[in-house]
Amino acid sequence: MQADPERLRQLAQVKQAENLDFRRHLAAHHHHSLEPFQILATRIELRTDCRECANCCRQMEVRVTDAEIRAVAAHLGMTVDNVRLWHTVPDPEDSSQRLLRNTGSACTFLDGNLCLVYDARPAVCRNFPNVHPGAHTLGARMESICLHAEVCPILFEALEQYKHQVGYHSR
Ligand code: SF4
Ligand code: SF4
Repeated sequence: MQADPERLRQLAQVKQAENLDFRRHLAAHHHHSLEPFQILATRIELRTDCRECANCCRQMEVRVTDAEIRAVAAHLGMTVDNVRLWHTVPDPEDSSQRLLRNTGSACTFLDGNLCLVYDARPAVCRNFPNVHPGAHTLGARMESICLHAEVCPILFEALEQYKHQVGYHSR
């Protein structure tokens, strides 16, 4: 599996046109369900050690709730105000919300490939890459799956296997 962020980004860019075509293919064949993709991705996730990757902690934006900021503060033994001040920033898309600060290369809490607040990490982090999302249709999520496959090798590999499984051949 390809965990090197730059190599994964390059591979994903090569696949951009194909992935767009694949999404059109799925839209034209409504009988494809999300479940086979979830099974593939879950299998890959189970044999993946995220400590060898941490791409999502470097590249994703993480929205945090007030309760999550309080949990991080308690975990670190800091005041809520200081966590808010030093480790979060306003969400540029919604100033009433906060994002975890990104230092420019990674989340403020990433140390090497390890999360300093792992036991108190926000739901966005706990849930990514969202391969157990419930009963959504694949078409509804394929856009975000293709987008996040540029960051997450689990999704990249599952997507490639899923194309093969449903008999899609790139044109
Ligand atoms: S809080 Fe932890 S898991 Fe979440 S992005 Fe930051 S380092 Fe990664
Ligand atoms: S969830 Fe995906 S991007 Fe994040 S560390 Fe694991 S393999 Fe890497």
